[in-house]
Amino acid sequence: MTHFLRDILRQPKELQRTIEFLLGSGAGALEAAKKVLPYYEAYFNQPYPLPKLDQIFVPGESDSMENWGAIKDEEQYLVDPSNDSWEDQSNAFQSLVHEIAHQWFGNLVTMAWWDNLWLNESFATWMQKKATDHFHPEWKIWIKALAEKESAMDQDAVPASRSIQVRRHHCGPFNPACCWSDIGLLRSF
Ligand SMILES: [Zn+2]
Repeated sequence: MTHFLRDILRQPKELQRTIEFLLGSGAGALEAAKKVLPYYEAYFNQPYPLPKLDQIFVPGESDSMENWGAIKDEEQYLVDPSNDSWEDQSNAFQSLVHEIAHQWFGNLVTMAWWDNLWLNESFATWMQKKATDHFHPEWKIWIKALAEKESAMDQDAVPASRSIQVRRHHCGPFNPACCWSDIGLLRSF
């Protein structure tokens, strides 16, 4: 038994359960990344160029970020496959594979300027659905995506609808809910 495990067993029961949960769900996230990374490498025919890819789950964070080689994710995406719903597991898996896709779309290949941020987000979201459907066809992710697309089309049906390419003079906030019409465009090609 390692010193680390011995230390865990000396903790109060509540803390022990928390640590066991984190180790279990962390292992799940690691396993997901280990199978998705080679899937993307084969699909893009372009190896992941860094020696490692860290996943950092931050308590209190409400968004994820595809930092080059060090993905930051929300703590809520640490899920327990034996207890959490398939929807929670699907959301966690999709968040992870989205950020991994950004290692290619956004990090390895970057748009010339923020005007074309839609390419970054739409390709990563499209790959997220593609990878999720590949590894978890039972979640029927493309059927669920139809509802998300319909919601985006509703938003697009108003006179104040935005254009896909947005002129930006600086890096501004991005609303991920807006990229569904862009993904619809990509899928139609
Ligand atoms: Zn993204």
